[in-house]
Amino acid sequence: MIPVNTPRLEGNEKKYLLECIESGWISSEGPFVAALETQFAQKVGRTYGIAVCNGTAALQIALKAIGIQPGDEVIMPTLTIVSCVLAVVGLGAVPVLVDSQPETWNMDVHAIEEKITKKTKAIMAVHLYGLPVEMDLILQLAEKYNLKILEDAAQMHGQTYHGKPCGSFGDVSTFSFYPNKLVTTGEGGIVVTDEKTLNEQCRLLRNLAFSKENRYCHEELGWNFRLSNLQAALGVAQLEQWEACIDKKRAMGAFYQECFSELPNVQRPLAKTSYANNIYWVFGLVLQKSKASCIMAQLKQKGIETRAFFYPMHWQPVLQQKGLFRGESYPVSEKLALHGFYIPSGLGLTKAQMTCVAEAVIDTLKEIA
Ligand SMILES: *Cc1c(COP(=O)(O)O)cnc(C)c1O
Repeated sequence: MIPVNTPRLEGNEKKYLLECIESGWISSEGPFVAALETQFAQKVGRTYGIAVCNGTAALQIALKAIGIQPGDEVIMPTLTIVSCVLAVVGLGAVPVLVDSQPETWNMDVHAIEEKITKKTKAIMAVHLYGLPVEMDLILQLAEKYNLKILEDAAQMHGQTYHGKPCGSFGDVSTFSFYPNKLVTTGEGGIVVTDEKTLNEQCRLLRNLAFSKENRYCHEELGWNFRLSNLQAALGVAQLEQWEACIDKKRAMGAFYQECFSELPNVQRPLAKTSYANNIYWVFGLVLQKSKASCIMAQLKQKGIETRAFFYPMHWQPVLQQKGLFRGESYPVSEKLALHGFYIPSGLGLTKAQMTCVAEAVIDTLKEIA
């Protein structure tokens, strides 16, 4: 079986983990946590980094830190991971959805303005699969309507938008360090920002909102979203391989592009746009004539694991039961969800495995046609 993700742990991961064990620093108090925060913030052009236990927690903290209150509306793409909507709903705020853009698979930024109301407080920009969201219009709208911007860059380590790092846009940005992300700590994530007060607020919220003066007297509802030194040790080792990982991702994407260049009835990822070269977080394909589930099942039988694209938020039963998104439809995202899937794309994948994947995809598509 070729798994959809294989992590790459080829640097100092083992050495730094041993250091934790030998020194006894295993909790979030250990020195690798601060090192990861400083080094990661620097990589993405931010002043502050706040390491947390996963990317979902990062979104929750970031959204609360920018002041989202019950009843506030947050504009976000319908096609994304559930983490984004959980953060909004968890605060009692209201998710307001926009459709996807058919070529880039990211949110259609031109559909945002018509969704802005008096209650809108923030726009959540989520970069998906390998290309960044078109940030210019989002930045303009935020300025015009006085909105906050939360950038979910969980899939975008190392990507840039017009040369500026993803993770450096808006008030606050978040990343995940799950093993299918470019930098992994097993489980983990980080919030990055340039604002001192947001940094302090995120640190407070991450650590049970313990008070500075009287530790066990709480003025806020926080969470325990701390990252351990063991996890951060992995992260610091991973950061040392940042450039190599980015290069490998792009090379993997170019290889698959080449393999599939002649395939009919399949939409491949855009290799580049005017604002970015694809970083191929994963290599997605969108079938023009059939649903993805059919080819995915056949590939599984041939020993190749794949994953469907996200399932739109307006189709989620748990959200519909809350009375959200009644009668709403977002046709581009619906098509992407049903017809899109991605093939093994992890950094640990070998060239031989990729060749095997590409051949199986081409053969299976021929069989289906
Ligand atoms: C992975 C991911 C997350 C969640 O990160 P976890 O570490 O798995 O909680 C959030 N947003 C996006 C876009 C992601 O890809």
